[in-house]
Amino acid sequence: MSATTPTREDTEVQNAPQTVAAESTSNKPPRSRANAKSTVWQHFEKIYDSKTNKIEGSKCMYCEKTLAYSVANGTSSMRKHLTSCKKFPQNVDSSQTLLSFKTTQKDEGQTSEVGTWKFDQENCRKLLAEVIISTEDCFTKVEHPKFRQFLGALQPLWKNVSRFTVARDCSKIFNYEKLHSRTNCGI
Ligand SMILES: [Zn+2]
Repeated sequence: MSATTPTREDTEVQNAPQTVAAESTSNKPPRSRANAKSTVWQHFEKIYDSKTNKIEGSKCMYCEKTLAYSVANGTSSMRKHLTSCKKFPQNVDSSQTLLSFKTTQKDEGQTSEVGTWKFDQENCRKLLAEVIISTEDCFTKVEHPKFRQFLGALQPLWKNVSRFTVARDCSKIFNYEKLHSRTNCGI
């Protein structure tokens, strides 16, 4: 599940057939169902092949660009499109940074600093692993549909991770901490 899906350039769909609203996909195989349920679909309309009735493309709700879709390639091209879509509300400028307000507590009281913010999947994965370690939670939590729905609502660019990926991330942090504490103790 955690294997990296090869990315490819977004491809325009020629002669795209009519778009249809999302519908039940309960008869589809697991991989297809997972992709069809991905939160990234909240930003795209599904384009169905009129003959086979399978999803063959997607249309961005903001700029109306159409992208080819296949189960094998999954939703990675859609996610990639959102990071560069000029009309996607979160992309306020070409550098995809947003203003952030950091509140800090100082002796004189609270102060707010204005900075820039950019979504960072790797950093979010690290923080998620730290949460799992700190709360001694199960790795399977990251695969729970409600938890994924929550993350997707917070940040549509978030790419879901499997329990194996988060277990590896936790192991990396654990090994780093172990090495670090040994070095500090002169072991
Ligand atoms: Zn777009």
